Amino acid sequence: LLFLLLCCSMSTKGALYKNPKIPIRVRVSDLLKRMTIAEKIGQMSQIERLNATDDVIKNYYIGSVLSGGGSPPLPNDTATDWVERIDAMQKAALSTRLGIPIIYGIDAVHGHNNVLNATIFPHNVGLGASRDPDLVKRIGQATALEARATGIPYVFAPCVAVCRDPRWGRCYESYSEDTDVVRQMTELIPGLQGDVPPDSPKGVPYVAGGKNVAACAKHYVGDDGAHNGIDENNTATSFHGLLSIHMAPYYTAIKKGVSTVMVSYSSWNGDKMHANHFLVTDFLKNKLRFRGFVISDWQGIDRITSPPYNNYTYSVLASVTAGIDMIMIPYNYTDFINDLTYLVKYNFIPMTRIDDAVSRILRVKFLMGLFDKPFADRSLINQLGNQKHREIAREAVRKSLVLLKNGKSPNETVLPLPKKSKKILVAGTHADNLGYQCGGWTIARQGLSGNNFTAGTSILQAIKNTVHPTTEVVFSERPTSSDLSDGKYDYAVVVVGELPYAETAGDNMNLMIPVPGARTIRRVCRVVKCVVVLISGRPLVVQPYIEMMDAFVAAWLPGSEGQGVADVLFGDYGFTGKLPRTWFKSVDQLPMNVGDKDYDPLFPFGYGLTTGTEPIKSI
Ligand code: BGC
Repeated sequence: LLFLLLCCSMSTKGALYKNPKIPIRVRVSDLLKRMTIAEKIGQMSQIERLNATDDVIKNYYIGSVLSGGGSPPLPNDTATDWVERIDAMQKAALSTRLGIPIIYGIDAVHGHNNVLNATIFPHNVGLGASRDPDLVKRIGQATALEARATGIPYVFAPCVAVCRDPRWGRCYESYSEDTDVVRQMTELIPGLQGDVPPDSPKGVPYVAGGKNVAACAKHYVGDDGAHNGIDENNTATSFHGLLSIHMAPYYTAIKKGVSTVMVSYSSWNGDKMHANHFLVTDFLKNKLRFRGFVISDWQGIDRITSPPYNNYTYSVLASVTAGIDMIMIPYNYTDFINDLTYLVKYNFIPMTRIDDAVSRILRVKFLMGLFDKPFADRSLINQLGNQKHREIAREAVRKSLVLLKNGKSPNETVLPLPKKSKKILVAGTHADNLGYQCGGWTIARQGLSGNNFTAGTSILQAIKNTVHPTTEVVFSERPTSSDLSDGKYDYAVVVVGELPYAETAGDNMNLMIPVPGARTIRRVCRVVKCVVVLISGRPLVVQPYIEMMDAFVAAWLPGSEGQGVADVLFGDYGFTGKLPRTWFKSVDQLPMNVGDKDYDPLFPFGYGLTTGTEPIKSI
């Protein structure tokens, strides 16, 4: 009681923690000393934005708010709308006794993909094909600026999964099946956060300032190794296997100052990661000396126990004891807060554990300047979807394309295509659809479809922009045989592929090209010289069609700047991308990864034909 009276009667006027000139270590401990249990538990709580009313933020001392993949979309909101909403939440947080700012987080996983008119970059699998860490760093910088343009200082990226089985619905969130490629691509982290100063102690998170955001390496660890590629499943591997394949990118991420790490829904050898003290505390925090905060996944702790043995109080105990610092409890935050309060009060969880969690969260908030500049910088609003970022995205598209076939015989080359032709056909469901081009995790998937959600360019529009003005471009989404019989086309570009999906919904055991696309390939390639451009988050079964194609390009999920596809198809730039994954022949070979015994792919990891590395002057 004495402690309570002391702590709560202390005035915060002139308090050390409020002084930006004081070292962060001192500010953290000064603030921690002043906090009640309720204030500490509030810091550990991250809730969904629709629940984050002024009263909830104030009454529960909420530490963080998010827009998650599971959040209802706000499709028409402008950057100014976002800024105003988040600043209002911040005002509520600052009006509490200690005035601790909230940290707002969002899944900006290939650009600021929840926001209307943001620049949408290729998904990670495509960036893996570019093998260009500097490009990925610039994408990080652009994404940080676009997030800041909407008042958001924290993004749940990068996913550093090393996807070992393309049947997994999240494979496109992984840069590669190869650990070293994934490690190189963690350059997104200094892109988002800024470069760690050389004298920074190991494991300390680093966020440079108001144009940077806190990053999050996810999903720790082994999300990417689950049996048969089933999402949220069990990764059965030795500790050595876990370290050498799945853990390695986390060493690099920590070295690059990553601020937060998100825990995976999956299990390792049968144990849920959300309850794994050994991997979260002993390994990540103690051995790797990670000093940022560990965040749970969306309702991740709810899944520690399963019916009929659900026991939420146990899940709270297990997750916080395991070492998770901030808990993503979008909806059931009162259950969490009540249970954690009970567990602390009755010493099931020691106060030292709570203080460790809160210090880590406060450290990140201090480090990134949230206490000193808690509100959005409105001068950044026009950074959203700006031309410079779209140019970076277009470059990324060019570099992500992988040319897998170019001509039916060794001395025939089909690509680059001539710009000047009489009449060409552009066919396929994915030729004129930005939503499909962007794939999962994009606002399109969550309400808007087609071309209405960003100022980008579909591949059809891009082709029209690129060919000679006298070239007639005919478009048919699903051409019939009679459309083709008297067409007399010089050639056709067939753009087909997967429909957008995310997480478990994307698990796919047959990996066939969806029917309208497969049919279009067969129909068109039988009668016209055809270039097939595949839009997909992973290799699909193409063996039945590869012979009939004249040229074949893997375009992955290129995002909003379809112009990059036309830049390379028509030779303004060369093809330089290399397969980030093994292209299997049939699904019964899976999982199949480079280095395996009996490696017998259709196209091996690293394969990719080139058409020149320098920009080619257009015809
Ligand atoms: C995903 C995470 C994501 C979180 C918040 C979860 O379902 O697994 O990758 O960051 O939702 O949207």
